[in-house]
Amino acid sequence: MSHEKHRFSLNNGFVVKQKGHKGFTQIHTAVCTCIYPPIVLMFSLTPPQLFGSKKDGVKQAEIQGLLKYGWHTEAMVLTAIRGELVVIPVEWSWLTLSRVLFSRQEVMKWNGWGYSDSRFLFNKKGQAEFTGRRYRLSGMVLPSLKDWFESTFGASLQHKSPATATLNASAVPFPSLNEAFLQDLKSTGIPFSHEAEDRVFRAHGHCLHEIFALREGKFGRVPDLVVWPNCHEDVVKTVDLACRHNVCLIPYGGGTSVSSALECPPDETRCIVSLDTSQMSRILWIDEKNLTAHVEAGIVGQDLERLLNESGYCTGHEPDSMEFSSLGGWVATRASGMKKNVYGNIEDLVVHIKMVCPRGVVEKSCQGPRVSIGPDIHHFIMGSEGTLGVVTEVTIKIRPMPEYQKYGSVVFPNFEQGVACLREVAKQRCAPASIRLMDNAQFQFGHALKPQVSSIFTSFLDGLKKFYITKFKGFDPHHLCVATLLFEGDRERVLQHEKQVYDIAAKFGGLAAGEDNGQRGYMLTFVIAYLRDLGMDYYVIGESFETSVPWDRVLDLCRNVKERIVRECRERGVQFPPLATCRCVCVSLSLTLTLREALDRRDLEHISAEELGRRGGPFPDVTS
Ligand SMILES: Cc1cc2nc3c(=O)[nH]c(=O)nc-3n(C[C@H](O)[C@H](O)[C@H](O)COP(=O)(O)OP(=O)(O)OC[C@H]3O[C@@H](n4cnc5c(N)ncnc54)[C@H](O)[C@@H]3O)c2cc1C
Repeated sequence: MSHEKHRFSLNNGFVVKQKGHKGFTQIHTAVCTCIYPPIVLMFSLTPPQLFGSKKDGVKQAEIQGLLKYGWHTEAMVLTAIRGELVVIPVEWSWLTLSRVLFSRQEVMKWNGWGYSDSRFLFNKKGQAEFTGRRYRLSGMVLPSLKDWFESTFGASLQHKSPATATLNASAVPFPSLNEAFLQDLKSTGIPFSHEAEDRVFRAHGHCLHEIFALREGKFGRVPDLVVWPNCHEDVVKTVDLACRHNVCLIPYGGGTSVSSALECPPDETRCIVSLDTSQMSRILWIDEKNLTAHVEAGIVGQDLERLLNESGYCTGHEPDSMEFSSLGGWVATRASGMKKNVYGNIEDLVVHIKMVCPRGVVEKSCQGPRVSIGPDIHHFIMGSEGTLGVVTEVTIKIRPMPEYQKYGSVVFPNFEQGVACLREVAKQRCAPASIRLMDNAQFQFGHALKPQVSSIFTSFLDGLKKFYITKFKGFDPHHLCVATLLFEGDRERVLQHEKQVYDIAAKFGGLAAGEDNGQRGYMLTFVIAYLRDLGMDYYVIGESFETSVPWDRVLDLCRNVKERIVRECRERGVQFPPLATCRCVCVSLSLTLTLREALDRRDLEHISAEELGRRGGPFPDVTS
């Protein structure tokens, strides 16, 4: 094991790598301490001219807002060093997003999805655009979105329903503190806060009804206190104190929950403490021989992958929420990643879990991948949603980063043919890392998200492709559907694999539709979650649900759930018919509805979940 080489941090401080980097080679010394709040860093660096340089395209005004806390961009990290903004190479990324999330309000929206600087809006010209600089779509205009939005939902840009702009701290219920607990907590030195903002940020996940309430400025029962343990031992102390003083603990990872599990029971009279794991975000060791990494549970997905990538490894676990969700959250919700066909779901990746329970620490006695004697304790920990204890450390399988990646896409004449192709791919056990089949409605929606084309040539080429598919091949634009593909592995195998999948697709009438379309589909993965907030600005609400079903029920499930939602909306007087769309990975159904008063948000969730359960067999996961 090469523990030392890959050790990223020690105790409460950071280990600093002294490393040259293009354009930053003058950095001589870097002495760094981590003080409360943890992102205030002390460095000694030369020369100071490196800092906040305009060549990095960062405007001075924006820099001001970032002085206090670290800030990630794609190529570099901006952080405050002795009150100066510093641009440091991304290799120094032990400064993880998880640690920045100590003060989530500095980086993220309080009543919507994701980073504060990234959002869809209709600009003064009435064109849709996506703001910020973080994603490939950022700064782009989407010329077709407005028409699609208005015609699909009957929405009007004149008819706005904006969210409450600022969090009104005086409207947040006063904390009901347990003084004896607080006194003992102080003696441990574990940071805590009862500020309204800190509590509200940790009082919810991302279910429609949760975000809807926040937009209306309504706060139900919120945690009374937030604590930020820094390591496993801190969690042991916190859980012990909670037991002694009859205090409720709710573990909090990335806050992307879609099962209402972070909501506080409204009638809970005991003090509720949100245990935020964000400061436990270190990779403690990497075992290159056995291909495992031992990691603190609060690390956020994007940080975990980036840090592992620096050492040439990956986990391959990429849920759509990986920008913000945490390793502990994945374990607690039995998460599934989009590349599960190759890497497996979280239950396939986990080797060892350490969980602090009221009666002590639960863990297997070895780091072995499998035990045959007795039940596997991991199976009751995974999916327990924080009800049994706090996951503090996880050993997870890692792999060398794939040598080669290739995107692809296939157009099918209709959804039925697409599903039949996916079934055959599964039967022949040759699924690519990711394969996602979108129905026609979702395909049209994806089309509406196309950015302005940069050249006449691209526009001409798009027209030509459309002509070939619809006129020459005779695909009906109102029925065709698209599958996006992602292959990973060594080059030769990927190319062979690709051929096999395209050959199967051809048997079901599928036509290869190019790498670009495939890549664009995956690029939209992280951006699509921002769309719900735009809808809500104009009285359009949306939610998505996921379930898994046997193959013979896929088509029935999709049809029945869509029909039921349309029927329920009609019976409840929803003015415009809902848009219900399906994406088949196993099977996921996402739907969007108009008009906010006619249908209760929770009703929508319950109806869909009930129908999914009835048609699909296993009770569905409801994910957004
Ligand atoms: C846009 C979007 C996309 C999504 N995509 C996917 C997807 O592709 N696949 C998927 O599986 N899910 C997905 N989800 C759902 C969600 O991201 C997952 O459930 C995720 O695993 C939650 O992780 P988290 O760190 O955000 O946990 P949180 O939301 O903070 O918590 C979720 C639950 O886990 C508990 N918990 C958190 N950390 C710990 C811990 N250390 N110990 C014990 N309990 C803990 C909490 O108490 C809570 O009950 C998505 C959600 C959104 C909003």
